Amino acid sequence: MSTQPTEERKAAVEPAVQPIDWNDFRDHLSTADQEGRRQWLFPRQPRGRFYRVRTYLSWVLLAIMFAGPFVRIHGNPLLLLNMVERKFVILGQIFWPQDMIISAVTLLIFCTGIIVFTAAFGRLWCGWTCPQTVLMEMVFRKIEYFIEGDAPAQRALAAAPWTAGKIGKKTSKHAIFFALSFVVGNTLLAYLIGTEQLFGIVTDNPLNHLQGLTFMVLFTLVFYGIFARFREQACTFVCPYGRFQSTLLDENTIVVAYDYKRGEKRGPLKRGQNAELRGQAGLGDCVNCFACVRVCPTGIDIRNGTQMECVHCTACIDACDNVMDKISRPRGLIRYASLNGIERGERLRLTPRLAGYAVLLTALIGLWVVLVFTRSDAETTLLRAPGALFQKMPDGRFSNLYTVKVVNKTSREMPVELKLENVPGDLQVMGQNIVVPPQKLAETSVLIELDPAVMKPGTTLLVVGVYSQGRRLQTLNTSFIGPRDDTRN
Ligand code: SF4
Ligand code: SF4
Repeated sequence: MSTQPTEERKAAVEPAVQPIDWNDFRDHLSTADQEGRRQWLFPRQPRGRFYRVRTYLSWVLLAIMFAGPFVRIHGNPLLLLNMVERKFVILGQIFWPQDMIISAVTLLIFCTGIIVFTAAFGRLWCGWTCPQTVLMEMVFRKIEYFIEGDAPAQRALAAAPWTAGKIGKKTSKHAIFFALSFVVGNTLLAYLIGTEQLFGIVTDNPLNHLQGLTFMVLFTLVFYGIFARFREQACTFVCPYGRFQSTLLDENTIVVAYDYKRGEKRGPLKRGQNAELRGQAGLGDCVNCFACVRVCPTGIDIRNGTQMECVHCTACIDACDNVMDKISRPRGLIRYASLNGIERGERLRLTPRLAGYAVLLTALIGLWVVLVFTRSDAETTLLRAPGALFQKMPDGRFSNLYTVKVVNKTSREMPVELKLENVPGDLQVMGQNIVVPPQKLAETSVLIELDPAVMKPGTTLLVVGVYSQGRRLQTLNTSFIGPRDDTRN
């Protein structure tokens, strides 16, 4: 019995390009039929200048993506998003839970940046730099082309019976896909928990790392499922960015667009028919060859206009440029352009909406810079020890016990001293002096003793300075509890 997925088998025996139904192409996805069943896609391998540049860019991006967890800046990883331990590192800078405001502003900058960028340049991110597209189109798809050949060969293979050759090709492809998914899954895990913990999971007794191993297997299976089966549906069904882009685009946004003014009325090219003859026949430059549709990894026809499924991968630009070269017409029938650019020949201009987003983004970046450069080297909390009451000492003074936590945000060892600033008294650190290792947290107990003469009835407010090598890093306020006035002496 064949184990080949139904949709792949079905697509394999159907024409490469689904006939366009002009009445309902907006009512259902290009990769689903009228009943909602999936239409398996066999996009042709693109060839052209955009594809070449995307390939070079993908090498850089993949190198950054896979090397990222191993790169160290001041001993810290490039990027670490450890949710469990609430430890976040961006470009070697540790952001502690105490840096929530900076984290929130960073998130706002990221979201606003996406909005500004999308409003101006559409889904440039999706087509050129999104890890899903880069991995799918530049890694997994290329392996598929290498093993199974271009779209017609893939289609033929999918329709062919299960011979030894087909089993060999399919097995080797999926084995490589699985191994790569394992690598991608572990890379993601390294970004989440750090390389040290990841190596611990791999080299240590598996029984000590059941949780980590579970995530390792889960991530591998998820990535294998996405790149082997789910594919373009991750962009069209799951990714929220694609779905809300329609709210961000306007007629001035640069998108991958078909120049309908130049292309229509479309029609096949007859022998000896030049542009002039086509013009006389009422025809435009589009020869209705479907080359742009055959390369589309999301299965759409860009000539229908901007669509949610379009990830701006530029494959259709390359395909159409190749056709234009062959029929000696100028390139750019499909190109990066705005609706106004096509309709009125307008260039990208700064609309009030875009200007507003840009001002907001600039303000947020300014705020972020101020927050990062003015953030203290240390974050200290001084709280009275839970459950501890005041004590009267033999010399008549009173004492309170505190717990102090110091986070060292620098990459050097930090000796820390605490001093009472507003009242005379003794402040003793229990045990050894506080020396906080780089990017670590130290916790100890502190005893403060006050003479009754400087105490207020009940609660005395204290100001404590946090110093390192003579430099004041922070000033803390805390309270000192003592007896009420009538029992102090
Ligand atoms: S590749 Fe160009 S000429 Fe061919 S159908 Fe697409 S838009 Fe028309
Ligand atoms: S329409 Fe063109 S740019 Fe959009 S996804 Fe398809 S091939 Fe890529």
